[in-house]
This record gives sequence, structure tokens and C-alpha cells, in this order.
Amino acid sequence: MEAEQVAQGGSVKHCLFCKKEIDRCYNYCNWDCMVAEAKANGGQVICPNGLPIRSIRRDGNMYEHEHGDHPDYKFPVDVLYVGPIDDDDRKRWTEFMGRPLTDEEVLRMEDETHALIYTDGFIAVTMYECCYAIFNLGTGMISCGPSWLRKKEWTLSAYSLTQIREYCERNKIPT
Ligand SMILES: [Zn+2]
Repeated sequence: MEAEQVAQGGSVKHCLFCKKEIDRCYNYCNWDCMVAEAKANGGQVICPNGLPIRSIRRDGNMYEHEHGDHPDYKFPVDVLYVGPIDDDDRKRWTEFMGRPLTDEEVLRMEDETHALIYTDGFIAVTMYECCYAIFNLGTGMISCGPSWLRKKEWTLSAYSLTQIREYCERNKIPT
């Protein structure tokens, strides 16, 4: 049906789940329809922290982080970019958003949500886009990470540091 529509050059396309008419450049009305389809197909919701579904794996299982299926996944943590920005950053994000951004807005566009995988009370190992990064819990700053962390000034947010310390307390990990 879909291929037929494309072949005919028609502009009508329907949501793959609810069949409502949608714009040709999409397959579903929205994220809710994608989640509803995964559930209807028997996918399991695996959100141990009760957070919203953010990732649907190919087998239909649903997770609160793209690395929520890692065997040692604990919870998501916020990683903030606190380094310098330059005109390339301003240009890239302005083009992406379609409007000029303040420097603070540009900084926040760089932020990432990592999955906490491991902590020994001194460091935190996180995962983002299939790469590991290590943070120092004393300072919150990144110690090492993949090459795409082209600038080295990244920190765990104050909220995430508190959550990690509370996790350590609950699990009798000295900090
Ligand atoms: Zn729909």
C-alpha cells in the first residue's frame, strides 16, 4: 500500500498504527502511536525507574533510555556542556532551530542524557550513543570519553550527582 502510494506520487499517507491521515514524510502520527503499536505487538515496557518511554527496540520492548537494555543499566543522568562555544556552534544550532539562540541556549543544546551503568562511589561510568564515558564524582567532571566529546568540559548535573550519591547510600557503597 505504501509503495503503491509512492509510485502513484499521491500525497495521502496513513499512520502505520491508527491509520489516521498524516504527512507523507512520517510513518506515525506521533511517538504515542509508535508506543501503542509496540504494546499492541506484545512489546514489554521495561522502565525500572517509572520514567517515560524514550526508546523502542527492534523486538518491540520499550525502555526509558536508549541504553535501558544494558544489563547494568541503573537510571538516566544529565550531562551538561560547560565549555566554550564558538561561531560554528552558534551557526549550527541557529540553523537547526531556525532562530538565533543565546549563548546559554547554545550550551544547553549540547547537553546529553547518558545511562548510568556503574559507580564505585568515586567514578561513574555512563553510556551514550553506544560509547562509555567516565565521570569523577568528586568534581562531577568528565575524566574520559569517546572522541565525539570533542570538547572536554562536560559535567554531571547537580541533580544527577545527588541521585548517584543517593544510589550509593542505598546500596552501601562508600563515597
Ligand atoms: Zn497514529
